[in-house]
Amino acid sequence: MPPRHLADLDLAGRRAAVSELGEQAFRAGQLSTHYFGRLERDPAGMTDIPAAARERLTGTLLPRLLTPVRELACDGGDTRKALWRLHDGSMVESVLMGYADRVTVCISSQAGCGMACPFCATGQAGLTRNLSTAEIVDQVVYLAGIAASGVMGGAPRRLSHVVFMGMGEPLANYNRVIDAVRRLTSPAPEGLGLSQRHITVSTVGLVPAMRKLAEEDLSVTLALSLHAPDDDLRDELVPVNQRWKVAEVLDAAWAYAARTGRRVSIEYAMIRDVNDQPWRADLLGRLLSGRLAHVNLIPLNPTPGSKWDASPKPVEREFVRRLRAAGVATTVRDTRGREIDGACGQLAASEVEA
Ligand code: SAH
Repeated sequence: MPPRHLADLDLAGRRAAVSELGEQAFRAGQLSTHYFGRLERDPAGMTDIPAAARERLTGTLLPRLLTPVRELACDGGDTRKALWRLHDGSMVESVLMGYADRVTVCISSQAGCGMACPFCATGQAGLTRNLSTAEIVDQVVYLAGIAASGVMGGAPRRLSHVVFMGMGEPLANYNRVIDAVRRLTSPAPEGLGLSQRHITVSTVGLVPAMRKLAEEDLSVTLALSLHAPDDDLRDELVPVNQRWKVAEVLDAAWAYAARTGRRVSIEYAMIRDVNDQPWRADLLGRLLSGRLAHVNLIPLNPTPGSKWDASPKPVEREFVRRLRAAGVATTVRDTRGREIDGACGQLAASEVEA
């Protein structure tokens, strides 16, 4: 694992760590205010802390976790993908997206992914390792700083939304992801002070972890990557379905909705002639009708070596029509970042083009 960082600890833990160094405990609050309140990641900018103390403190609590390797932008600068190298050479990516009313960051929870979904570039590469809490949080703090600098054009400067939809399966790195959510949502200086409702955790459907998440007393949005309403096809598209079937995974989603009052987002990549048939729309409609759910259709993004492509627009429209006729709220995701391989399922953290 990477070196310990202040974002791995709550405020009490940071105070203890600072005291252990022989420094005064209030320095923990100062460091935290710089990092979470001012988005300052560079010790040189923390001038209210005397230089000698600063060096000791930052050496122990602010090690550099992410080294930017490459930043790419598209959509006139409103979509930015960052590729990072971690201390052990692993690579991860995050994507920052500016909209008229909000700024969203899509972050990675693992280097690679072990879930092996055949249409996802990350899934093809396999799992390298879990990220630490601070490696997850630091992606957000870094990109919140970029947004705050005003480069996102028409978007607000304040980062407001976080989606765990980058590389990795967040619920397979459960404790660190939950800790990261707590850091992102605690008020400054303990954390970044984001609203829990503005955080989305997306999962392939690890049922025991979904049930555990429902008990955390967090009102984060749960997204479930369903992609097929029937086990035959879902076994292939989302291999973990061989362990937890569609009915079980939806039961866990409804338990989450009942417990939190939050509408679950059902993610469904539209793959031509694979999962986009009218009968599958009807079956999905029957499964979701009357539930606290919303369907988010994602036009399939191309990935290297994949034999699949996106459904034609008329097929997509018919799918939407049938879901809505069944009374299911449905939207089609405005896919960002395709040109920079920054869209859903395209994150592969390859340095080849760097
Ligand atoms: N492992 C978690 C988090 C990743 S979220 C999960 O699967 O939910 C990334 C989302 O993009 C998931 O819904 C995933 O299924 C979807 N996705 C993966 N590859 C895609 C592709 N090529 N085109 C469109 N969506 C894709």
